[in-house]
Amino acid sequence: MADQKKFLLSENDIPKQWYNIQADLPNPVAPALHPGTGQPAGPEDFAPLFPMELIMQEVSQDRWIDIPDPVREMYRMWRPTPLIRATGLEKALGTPAKIFYKYEGVSPVGSHKPNTAIAQAYYNKIEGTKRIVTETGAGQWGSALAFACQQFGLESKIYMVKASFNQKPYRKSMMQTWGGTVTASPSEETQAGRTILAGNPDSPGSLGIAISEAVEVAAGDDSTKYSLGSVLNHVLMHQTVIGQEAVMQMEMAGAYPDIVIGCAGGGSNLAGISFPFIADKLAGKSNTRFIAVEPEASPSLTKGQFAYDFGDAIGMTPLLKMHTLGHTFVPNPIHAGGLRYHGMAPLVSALFDAGVYEARAYHQNACFEAAVLFASTEGIIPAPEPTHAIKAAIDEALVAKETGEEKNILFHLCGHGHLDLSAYDSYFAGTMVDYALPEEAIAEAMKSVPQMG
Ligand SMILES: *Cc1c(COP(=O)(O)O)cnc(C)c1O
Repeated sequence: MADQKKFLLSENDIPKQWYNIQADLPNPVAPALHPGTGQPAGPEDFAPLFPMELIMQEVSQDRWIDIPDPVREMYRMWRPTPLIRATGLEKALGTPAKIFYKYEGVSPVGSHKPNTAIAQAYYNKIEGTKRIVTETGAGQWGSALAFACQQFGLESKIYMVKASFNQKPYRKSMMQTWGGTVTASPSEETQAGRTILAGNPDSPGSLGIAISEAVEVAAGDDSTKYSLGSVLNHVLMHQTVIGQEAVMQMEMAGAYPDIVIGCAGGGSNLAGISFPFIADKLAGKSNTRFIAVEPEASPSLTKGQFAYDFGDAIGMTPLLKMHTLGHTFVPNPIHAGGLRYHGMAPLVSALFDAGVYEARAYHQNACFEAAVLFASTEGIIPAPEPTHAIKAAIDEALVAKETGEEKNILFHLCGHGHLDLSAYDSYFAGTMVDYALPEEAIAEAMKSVPQMG
């Protein structure tokens, strides 16, 4: 069928292994450094926070890592996810390009995040962890972790940035439905929280403060571990189930992608859709372009620097070599909460530095305009984050229209926007602000990047 719309796999096609791109990199990624000594951090440095299996995955050079059966069994709840040809959008644009999207919004949480949350909860369970503690900004990661912990009989505790806790009550309700304990951060429960509150009782909180609270709790309790929803190598690897399925589905469509596009906050959904295709490029078998799309308000690839920096705002975590705007950078409050992070995954940063990824940044009004066109032609209402990928896909399809080239464009629709309708309200009311980021603000935050020898 030349104009087939959906490309569906069966449960047997759910990948049996994760793809570890570290095995195929021309140069190994720079190691994480201990925040105190500046020396490469070893497994023992991470042991209080993560189960050993995840620590080993973080540095593994094996190309394929088996997905444990219980994890694959959980994946069956929503995997394989559909790959859809955007015929309605193509028609509206009048482009000769074929546009495809992989849709992760069918997961219970509504995004790609449970692909790693399930894996992380599983390894914690088998290594004896009783409780996982984490932080969440807008609530997407917290919901995924609460869901995954409940599936494996673990407790979950989530420090949610206070401003979001008050403004986004439905994500909190989701976490509670899945058995999670949600605390507004900064809280009185930790030293870090009490210190912040002593200085400013009305602090709205930040992701950096919430990380500090979660890490403090995990470090102080043997049966509690910490968990991260993006950035780290093992998180990106877990997300490669997305791209592996997409490889099979594009084969079914008889269309190898010329362009692969994903939005980039910490880099995990982009890695998930693209790493299995990048394997072909690294092997010299394709000329595909890979595009990372970020918001103008938080442009770590397009405006940041490739340097060692802290993962949190306070400087407690190991140092990672990544594209960063400086760990003290506080982005403006755009609606795509998942894209507001000062750094970018070391693996994505290294591949950007090597010229494998291109990057571009867009303002949020242009992205929502693209999302509304997408919803009117394809039906699905996207989360604010992937509106960036949609905008880039549309722009590339319009380039193809001008040149008359029949390009195959694949983008990642990593989540739906049913809990983000206030962002659409703001777009329709004309109150959505396009923050122009002053160069001075970046220069100022960049001063917080530690000078490494
Ligand atoms: C968390 C999230 C993101 C940003 O994280 P990445 O690691 O860059 O993928 C993007 N989109 C959605 C829907 C998210 O939930």
